[in-house]
Amino acid sequence: MNYEVVIGLEVHAELSTKSKIFCSCTNEFGGLPNTHCCPGCIGMPGTLPILNRSVVEYAIKAGLATNCAISKYTKYDRKNYFYPDLPRAYQISQYDLPVCVDGFIEIEIGGVKKKVRIERIHIEEDAGKLVHDEWDTGSLVDYNRSGVPLVEIVTRPDMRSAEEARIFLENLKAILQFTEVSDCKMQEGSLRADVNISVRPKGSEKLGVRTEMKNLNSFRAIIRAIEAEAQRQIDEIESGSRIYRETRRWDDSKGVSYSMRSKEEAQDYRYFPEPDLPPVIINEEWVEGIRQSLPELPEARKNRYIQEYEIPPYDAGLIISSKVLSEFFEKACSKTANAKAVSNWIMGDLLRILKERIMEVEDIPFSPECLAKMVDLIDKGTISGTIAKKVFERMFDSGKDPEVIVKEEGLEVVTDEGALLEVVRKIIINNPGSVTDYMGGKKKALGFLIGQAMKETKGRADPQLISKLLI
Ligand code: ADP
Ligand code: MG
Ligand code: ZN
Repeated sequence: MNYEVVIGLEVHAELSTKSKIFCSCTNEFGGLPNTHCCPGCIGMPGTLPILNRSVVEYAIKAGLATNCAISKYTKYDRKNYFYPDLPRAYQISQYDLPVCVDGFIEIEIGGVKKKVRIERIHIEEDAGKLVHDEWDTGSLVDYNRSGVPLVEIVTRPDMRSAEEARIFLENLKAILQFTEVSDCKMQEGSLRADVNISVRPKGSEKLGVRTEMKNLNSFRAIIRAIEAEAQRQIDEIESGSRIYRETRRWDDSKGVSYSMRSKEEAQDYRYFPEPDLPPVIINEEWVEGIRQSLPELPEARKNRYIQEYEIPPYDAGLIISSKVLSEFFEKACSKTANAKAVSNWIMGDLLRILKERIMEVEDIPFSPECLAKMVDLIDKGTISGTIAKKVFERMFDSGKDPEVIVKEEGLEVVTDEGALLEVVRKIIINNPGSVTDYMGGKKKALGFLIGQAMKETKGRADPQLISKLLI
């Protein structure tokens, strides 16, 4: 039988506000354990929450940027459960009246556009963090993250493959970064997703029974977890068994998931309205003000790149996938007329070297102006394409200006006919076989001789000039 995979995501994004959600503690990542805390965010009795206005604004921003309707009347609810990283034994969240509802994000796969619907975006607070590994005698709690503001973005079950989920997440990440709602640093846990999966016979309208995997925190883990879980479900059904509604834990190092708890064991959170916070009324004026302040969104920027810089949609899509990268691109393009070359360098060598050196776009050691300069050095014929690759590596090593590197290492193209003639003579003397071949009509032999001359000059000669001199 042919199966269709159905995926719905619940994405948690930590907001980039200055302070926490219900107190004025800093919202900065890291810090020594339990230094970003106060009696409020460690749940001391008698403290009261005061809602950070920016948190609501950030959530509204996220909603507007994902085509949601913004609710007029919203409230906060207590979600009760006991866990040592949750000092009050309840999390303040939003249950039935979230800030945003009914949005969508458009994704493009294989040239076809489709909408992934967003059911809701609600506000909640993050919990602290348990540290298990550093002491043998017990676990420790770090409450720095306790009270960090989050939005949870819940999609409809609209994705049909791991690839669609990946593209959705990339688009969502770009939107949250462009609007500065979240930095989306997955390695710091700023963006994490719960993945809901079911399978059903192709063509069937009815949704299959789903399982859920919680807190996946890398694109790689999400994709692998989806693929493995879809296959596990298909295998179960094929072998005559059935799927149980359950929460599973994904072990990315082993590439398998384990059952954590079934629906029957699922917790009853006893949601009820948070008595210490009044409902929040969001008026039209407030929403309009935020709408006006929204920056250019990734999709619009992509289209502008295609128009303004005349680069292909593929290039534009890749560049806007990161806000920092797209700013780097624009700054470079403001210094050179050859936008396509800038885009080629970014998509090719730049991303390759970042990956090889396990660096982020933020860590690029040279300025966009330097990339523009290098493009111009090639266009003016000062350096060859081969040499440029070497210069580019050096720019990564030292962060130096390409002009300086070219000068220091003497990498300019050699156009001095006298000097090149010397090289050409040497090549002719050293390769009598190829010379005879050429003279006998084998034109291909010239290519070999040019290659030898280029090698001799370490790629610095002008190949056209070499060819002319050889002939
Ligand atoms: P819960 O609060 O129990 O997690 P929700 O109704 O909020 O349940 O759904 C959570 C997520 O599960 C949503 O992203 C939704 O799209 C997804 N989902 C619901 N049903 C299915 C299904 N049959 N297959 C795959 N995903 C599903
Ligand atoms: Mg869920
Ligand atoms: Zn605090």
